[in-house]
Amino acid sequence: MHRRIAILGSTGSIGTTALRVIDGLNGLPKDKSPRFEVVALSGHSNIKLLAEQVRQYRPKYVAVSDADCVEEFRRQVEGLDVKILAGPEGLTKIAELEQVDTVLAAVVGVAGLQAVLAAVRKGKRVAIANKEPLVMAGQLITTAAKKYGAELLPVDSEHSAIFQSLSAGRHDEVAKIILTTSGGPFRKANPAGIPDATIEQVLAHPVWRMGPKITVDSATMMNKALEIIEARWLFDVPAEKIEVLVHPESIVHSMVEYVDGSVIAQLGYPDMSLPIQYALTYPARVPGSAKKLDLSRLKTLTFEKPNPEVFPAIEMGFEAAKKGGTAAAVFNAANEAAVEQFLAGNIKFGNIVELVRRCLDNCNAKTDASLEELLEADAWAKKEVTECLKNQRTGSKKQRTQNTQRKQLHG
Ligand code: NDP
Ligand code: MG
Repeated sequence: MHRRIAILGSTGSIGTTALRVIDGLNGLPKDKSPRFEVVALSGHSNIKLLAEQVRQYRPKYVAVSDADCVEEFRRQVEGLDVKILAGPEGLTKIAELEQVDTVLAAVVGVAGLQAVLAAVRKGKRVAIANKEPLVMAGQLITTAAKKYGAELLPVDSEHSAIFQSLSAGRHDEVAKIILTTSGGPFRKANPAGIPDATIEQVLAHPVWRMGPKITVDSATMMNKALEIIEARWLFDVPAEKIEVLVHPESIVHSMVEYVDGSVIAQLGYPDMSLPIQYALTYPARVPGSAKKLDLSRLKTLTFEKPNPEVFPAIEMGFEAAKKGGTAAAVFNAANEAAVEQFLAGNIKFGNIVELVRRCLDNCNAKTDASLEELLEADAWAKKEVTECLKNQRTGSKKQRTQNTQRKQLHG
């Protein structure tokens, strides 16, 4: 079998792991695995790596989504037979190419939304790591997937585990979905110190090596909150049927409990190559590079309920999942904007959750929202975050001036 793939976000953590998975699959005997032809790649600003990937994989098309980087990229791949598509539209174009049957969505943030929708509307297999579009527009994406006969296959490790565990029963036999989380870097930290955590502390995830945005999300637990909404749409289950458990060993990637009390889980060492490979070769299982699980060496597997005092984001995730529509879009967008501000050194770690809370409280929640309404909600939340920060800055400047005046007056 021959598969023709486009990798959106090939320069990222998921994208580079996926290319390694593809190397492994193409190295297997022909009767053991489908062959993968890399038809298209995309990068945003890491032009050097993107150019190296083009030299190695010789895709016919490349999208450079940051239009400012296109000229430099063109210079770097001069003489190679590759069609370059510039800007966000380029990303959408490679997602809907006729020559492509499988799209791996591995861009970070809602920037991947239009491309995911385009691939779905063309009825392709979409292996989806890029969770933010599902959080923002899960209803639209899953409805379109049904309408156009697209296959949506989860790459997120928890959702891949749930997807695999769901094959043990019928949809109406599912009692609940149990999403696991490692607990991130602050599981055992003193709650009083967490809001002041530095960028370095936040980026030191105990288990997973991932891109910066999802690593920050894992520290706030926003990642789990986003995953609740992702699961709600991917598996068509209400938020009431989803539970989150902290599992620091990160061996059980998630579970499904059935009405008879049976709990089915998927286990493995933490390694994204496994869920990526399964989404690419599904329904086949083929030999891969993931280390085999040695249960006899694992002394204990522990599970605990997340502490809402330490991780208020999880409750917010349930709230946004229940409200759905524009509330979920606002929740996602406020978080994206706040994480960007944190990584730029403009706000404290603790401000991320506060800003998201504020946007969620102030938004006009609307269910069954259209794409335009969701895009408006996304833009509103991003602007609201900027406004809040501007007001805070003006507020603290005013405070400083008043304090100086008071000092001068009294002394
Ligand atoms: P990275 O930051 O490592 O990579 C992001 C990719 O998206 C890069 O190729 C980057 O290009 C590209 N990109 C960045 N900004 C834009 C933009 N505005 N438009 C188009 N492309 C852009 O992220 P990850 O690989 O860690 O994560 C990707 C997605 O997968 C996220 O949604 C994340 O939540 C999800 N995910 C990731 C996991 C992981 O283990 N990493 C696990 C589960 C889910 P460039 O680098 O060239 O600028
Ligand atoms: Mg995950």
